[in-house]
Parts: sequence; C-alpha cells; structure tokens
Amino acid sequence: MSDCIFCKIATGEIKTEFIYEDKDIVAFKDINPQAPVHIIIIPRKHIPTLNDLQPQENELAGKMITIGIKIAKKYKELENGYRLVLNCKKNGGQEIFHIHLHLLGGRRMQWPPG
Ligand code: AMP
Ligand code: ZN
Repeated sequence: MSDCIFCKIATGEIKTEFIYEDKDIVAFKDINPQAPVHIIIIPRKHIPTLNDLQPQENELAGKMITIGIKIAKKYKELENGYRLVLNCKKNGGQEIFHIHLHLLGGRRMQWPPG
C-alpha cells in the first residue's frame, strides 16, 4: 500500500532504526511511547486489520508474537512482565491500518485497559 506509513517503514522509504528485522517482520520503537518500553512489531506484508488476516497467514501472526516475546526477553526492564497488545479498528483503538503488535512494559500496566 503506497500511502501506508508502516509499509514505508518496512521498505525503508521512511528511515527507521529497527530493533529486529527478518524477511517477514520488522520491529521498531513507538514514536509516541505509552510506557518506558514501547515497541511496534509489524509484518512486512500489508494487512489492514486483524479481521483481514487469512488462514494462510496464521504462521505469520504467530511469528509476530514469537518475535515480541523474543524482544521482550532481551529487556531487563521487562523481566517482571510486559504486555502484548493488538488493536482492531476504531473501537479497538487502531489508528494505523497495517496490523501491528505493541510490546509495552517497564512499568506496572493497568487493568482493565482504557
Ligand atoms: P494503534 O493505535 O494500535 O494503531 O497504534 C499505532 C502506533 O503507531 C501508535 O502507538 C503510534 O504512536 C505509532 N506510530 C505512528 N507513527 C509512527 C512512526 N512513524 N514510527 C513509530 N511509531 C509510530
Ligand atoms: Zn501497510
């Protein structure tokens, strides 16, 4: 998608420091962090919302979580826990319509979420 900011980050059109990258996934720091650690994990493939995920993308969706956990384990601030969040569409709080996993931590997270 030519006007998608996360596609532009994934292709390098918008220069961003990656915390992790492979052929399927990239991860980078959130520009407006909501916690001391706030990292965004995205597939390189443009998938607008969770509702658009296809059965053949199950492995990719699982990989996003696996990578989120792998990154989390590298952060000392997250040794006592963290949160992985997927927002879907307007009422889920989704602002960027390219699926992404939030990795949040470094403080005690609240429940229920806002
Ligand atoms: P969501 O509300 O779930 O769609 O989350 C989108 C997230 O992307 C927000 O936390 C934004 O702060 C973050 N974000 C938007 N633009 C950028 C960017 N250029 N680089 C890093 N994070 C971004
Ligand atoms: Zn995209």
